Amino acid sequence: MQTSVGAHRAARSGVLQRGASGSRIGSRRSLRVEARDYPRPAFDTAETFQEAQALSAKLKNAPRPAKPLKVAIVGGGLAGLSAAKYLSDAGHKPVVLEGRDVLGGKVAAWKDKDGDWIETGLHIFFGAYPNMMNVFRELGIEDRLQWKEHSMIFAMPDAPGEFSRFDFPDIPAPLNGVVAILRNNQMLTWEEKIKFAIGLIPAIFGGQQYVEDQDGLSVTEWMAKQGVPPRVNEEVFIAMAKALAFIDPDVLSMTVVLTALNRFLRETHGSKMAFLDGAPPERLCQPMVDHFTARGGELRMNARLKNIELNEDGSVKALELCAHTHMCVRPTSLRLC
Ligand SMILES: Cc1cc2nc3c(=O)[nH]c(=O)nc-3n(C[C@H](O)[C@H](O)[C@H](O)COP(=O)(O)OP(=O)(O)OC[C@H]3O[C@@H](n4cnc5c(N)ncnc54)[C@H](O)[C@@H]3O)c2cc1C
Repeated sequence: MQTSVGAHRAARSGVLQRGASGSRIGSRRSLRVEARDYPRPAFDTAETFQEAQALSAKLKNAPRPAKPLKVAIVGGGLAGLSAAKYLSDAGHKPVVLEGRDVLGGKVAAWKDKDGDWIETGLHIFFGAYPNMMNVFRELGIEDRLQWKEHSMIFAMPDAPGEFSRFDFPDIPAPLNGVVAILRNNQMLTWEEKIKFAIGLIPAIFGGQQYVEDQDGLSVTEWMAKQGVPPRVNEEVFIAMAKALAFIDPDVLSMTVVLTALNRFLRETHGSKMAFLDGAPPERLCQPMVDHFTARGGELRMNARLKNIELNEDGSVKALELCAHTHMCVRPTSLRLC
C-alpha cells in the first residue's frame, strides 16, 4: 500500500496503525492493519466550505438565461465535469468533449478481463477541498467518501517497513498541526521538530500574497532559508513534492507546496483524508455526467479536439475534432453556436 514517494500515497496509510505495544519484530516495528472509517469531519462551518456553498447557490439561483449558451468544454476530467455541472446548474448547455473512451482523466480507471478495476493511482480527497466536498454533497454521494483518522504517515526511506506518524489531535488549527509535528514518533529529533515548527510559522500566518511571493524559491531553498533541518526536507518534502507535482523539491516552486500546506495548517480538518469507495469513473464521474445531461448538457466520448479555428476578431469559429482519436486523421469540424 505505501511507497516512500507521495504524501498522498504515504498518507493513505491512515489505515495502518502501530500495534498497541509498538513492539518490534526483529528490527521491524509491528503494524496492525485497521480498515475502519471515521466520521465525516464537521467542516460545514469552515469559511472555505461556506464560500463554496455560496458560490454554488449563486449559480443555481441566478435568473435563467433567456437563451442558454451552448458551451464546449474540452476534457472530461474532474475540472471539465465540474465546469459542466456548474454551467448546467446556471441554466446553460455544456458539451463535454472527451478525447478518450474513459471518463476522469487523471482519476480514470479501467476494468481488466476479470472485472477488477485498475486505477491510475489511489486518490485522496482532503478536507481542504471545499468545492469538491460541495460537489459530493450536491450530487447526493457524500457517503461514498470514506474518511480516515487524522494522521499523516510517511514510510521511512532508511528504515524499510517502518513508518513515521504525524497524528493531529482534535483541537483547532494551527495548534493541531504544531502538536502533530512536536509529537512525531520517530522521524525527527526534538531539535529538528522545534526548528521545523518555527520554520513553518510564515506558512501558517502568511496570507496568499506570502504564498505567491515564494514562487522564486524551490522547496529545498525555502526550507534552508527558514532553517528547517535538511533531514525534514529529505524525509517529508521529497514525498510531498513528488505527490503534488511528481518532481523533486529542489526543482519544485515553494508556492506549490505552500498552497497545500497553508490550507492544511490553517484549517482544522484540512489535512484529513477520505478515499472514494470505488473506481472514480463509476462512483464520481458518472454522477456528474448524469447531473448535467439531465439538465440538457451533453457528453461526447472519443471526441479529441485537434484545432481551434478562430475568427478574425479572435473569437472561436469552430472546433476541429479528430475523426480517429488515436491517429488524429480526417478531421471533422464541429460548430457550437
Ligand atoms: C497517480 C496520481 C495520483 C494522484 N493523487 C492525487 C490525490 O491523492 N489527491 C489529489 O487531490 N490529487 C491527486 N492527483 C492529481 C489529480 O488527479 C488531478 O489534479 C486531477 O484529477 C486533474 O483533473 P483535471 O480535470 O484538471 O485534468 P485531467 O484529469 O488531466 O483531465 C483532462 C482531460 O482532458 C482530456 N483531454 C486532453 N486533451 C484533450 C483534447 N485535445 N481533446 C479532448 N479531450 C482532451 C484528457 O483525456 C482528460 O480526460 C493524482 C494524480 C495522479 C496521476
